[in-house]
Amino acid sequence: MHPLQRDWHKLRLLHQRWLNEHDRVTGTAGDINLQRLRLLAPAVAVINGLLCFVFGMRLLLADLHATVQVWQVQLLLAHLVMGGVMVALAAGAQHWRHASRRWFGRWLPTVAMGLSLGFSVLLACIDQLVTPSIAPFLLGCMMTALAFHQRPTVSGLLYGASAIAFFVFMGQAQDQAEALLSNRINGVAGCVMGWTLSVMLWRKFTLLTLQQAELEKANNDLQIKQRELERLTRVDGLTGLLNRLTFVELTRGELARARRQGTATTLLVLDLDHFKRINDSWGHPAGDAVLRHVAALCMGTVRSTDLVGRLGGEEFIVLLPATTPEAGRKLAEKLRQRLEQSPVRVQDQLIQVTASIGLSGAGPQDKTADFDSLYQAADQALYLAKHQGRNRVV
Ligand code: GH3
Ligand code: MG
Ligand code: MG
Repeated sequence: MHPLQRDWHKLRLLHQRWLNEHDRVTGTAGDINLQRLRLLAPAVAVINGLLCFVFGMRLLLADLHATVQVWQVQLLLAHLVMGGVMVALAAGAQHWRHASRRWFGRWLPTVAMGLSLGFSVLLACIDQLVTPSIAPFLLGCMMTALAFHQRPTVSGLLYGASAIAFFVFMGQAQDQAEALLSNRINGVAGCVMGWTLSVMLWRKFTLLTLQQAELEKANNDLQIKQRELERLTRVDGLTGLLNRLTFVELTRGELARARRQGTATTLLVLDLDHFKRINDSWGHPAGDAVLRHVAALCMGTVRSTDLVGRLGGEEFIVLLPATTPEAGRKLAEKLRQRLEQSPVRVQDQLIQVTASIGLSGAGPQDKTADFDSLYQAADQALYLAKHQGRNRVV
């Protein structure tokens, strides 16, 4: 590729990227512009009012030269009109303050920019009656760039139109050739500078807004990850059941309550039979699927107030608060049967699973039962269940 072609290509890519970035911040810019218009337009209207008062008083009280009189009358009228327009803009911005994404809300600040540039052309032209200075126009160019966030194309059109208007109307207002030439050059330079300032501020605004959005997103992602990490410290990652630590903690609380209220508690320890064989024959992913199936089955069988946890490996633990050992035994038997009767489907194959369950309980009057003693008793019962041939409740 020719170096010139490459540069052109790079320039087009940069232009594309800028357009993309500008599209993403235009909505936010619209909100800010409308808010600024609500504050600025009344402030400018007040200044217009004060100037009208000053010019009016001078016209009434001072003994002015004829040209100065014409100049003051024209300024008074210009500020009167401008004040009225500013009041109308302020009312519009107030009325459409929630409509910055609709076309009239979006275009109102742009209209305000065009009008303020137009008024600064007018004031500079009126001034030519008494001075060749174009200070109001240069000030207008800078203030307009500072006041609103505007996309470079739109601001380019506004400043371009102002430059043409200034060039044409200055030709009517200033009849001294040298002063006219100087004013036209300065006026056009003022427009170029105003536009450059507007583009620089717009780019700064764009980058800051995008950076802030990225920071907010990163912060959100971090919070989601943190919540997930917190969840993972409480639950088992594979099955979603309570992990051992959380289960033991919650069980201690339940047992304390049972002692206070004098209710019975039952604990089940469930161990899958010959689970190693399942892993060996079907592979570990199939073994994992079986574990998830057993977890879901346990959750679907117990009451919502019961606690179900995974002790580790293929061992599960269930706490049944306010349940006598007899009732607990019925539930354990139901669980065992359900498991036996619901083989797990993995890749179009059915895997038969059974479990042995050890049960222990604390009676309503038992004031000494704690997690360790209940767990030890249930584990011994489980050992017996395995010993007696598996797939049973002891
Ligand atoms: P028993 O009837 O005596 O309980 O025999 P078993 O094969 O179920 O018991 P054993 O303790 O010999 O084997 C347990 C197996 O569980 C061994 C281990 O590879 C497997 N295991 C432990 N944790 C996981 C897991 O998270 N996923 C899978 N797929 N397998 C696991
Ligand atoms: Mg085991
Ligand atoms: Mg086992």
